[in-house]
Amino acid sequence: MSTSLGQARIFLFSVDLEDVRTMIPDGERYVERVPANVERYLELLERRGQRTTFFTVGDTARRYPELIREIADAGHELACHSSEHVPLDRQDANSLREDLLRNRDDLVRAGADEVVGFRAPIFSLTERSAWAHEVLAELGFLYSSSVIPTRNLLHGWDGFGAHCRRMQSGIWEIPVSVTGFLGRRIPFAGGFYFRLFPLAILRPLFRRQGPAPVVGYFHPYDIDVEQERFMHPELGGNRALNALMYLNRSRVLGRLENLIGQGLSVLPYAEFVAKYLEDDVSQDAAAES
Ligand SMILES: [Zn+2]
Repeated sequence: MSTSLGQARIFLFSVDLEDVRTMIPDGERYVERVPANVERYLELLERRGQRTTFFTVGDTARRYPELIREIADAGHELACHSSEHVPLDRQDANSLREDLLRNRDDLVRAGADEVVGFRAPIFSLTERSAWAHEVLAELGFLYSSSVIPTRNLLHGWDGFGAHCRRMQSGIWEIPVSVTGFLGRRIPFAGGFYFRLFPLAILRPLFRRQGPAPVVGYFHPYDIDVEQERFMHPELGGNRALNALMYLNRSRVLGRLENLIGQGLSVLPYAEFVAKYLEDDVSQDAAAES
């Protein structure tokens, strides 16, 4: 990868901003927790002087326009995470096109500047839904961060490879970071494994990624110790898996702050693409001419 990237240790931390309650039957009876949890991410980022990307569900932006405005005013990037969190295997090109236009509209109406990024719900961009890149290109998006490059319980694009790639449509795909673990490749910079692994394991994993960025994902619920217990969506009603959704939530923010404090820079994905990926392409082109 690029020489410029070799100097930096980049953590593409991000928040997938969504309200799980809207994805389960009768979810509204549970306590509203999204704004309080987002505030805690915002405080951490402000304390550390860092900006990041909030991949935001359109429905959530409509519910919390003031929160979206606050995120934008603090200099963070707002990007799409679909209108209602419907995974790509339940969409086609037409429905995705409409979905993204609505999602982008909702973000802009709530105060976002320019919306150029997308993350598929539950990383549902795989070989089978790679058509989504074409739709994104057609709508003027710059990048997607929607692939887990391994076989995964829900989704996953096993042969994608670990590095950022410019797809044929011109869209950059920024896959989530994975590492080898017990003969499998697992995403460690977010979700279950980030909650499971202590810092003694996470720190070397983060270091070992260089010069590639560490690409991670966090949700409001990942840090929530006050939310009631309920069955999460997309787990097929599996109680053991659901129990893991609540594992070590109290440790996540402290670990994040510790890792950021080890000299990692966090930056919005769109800035990463412009500064490190696009810049590299122009350098390569210049070298060839
Ligand atoms: Zn999501």
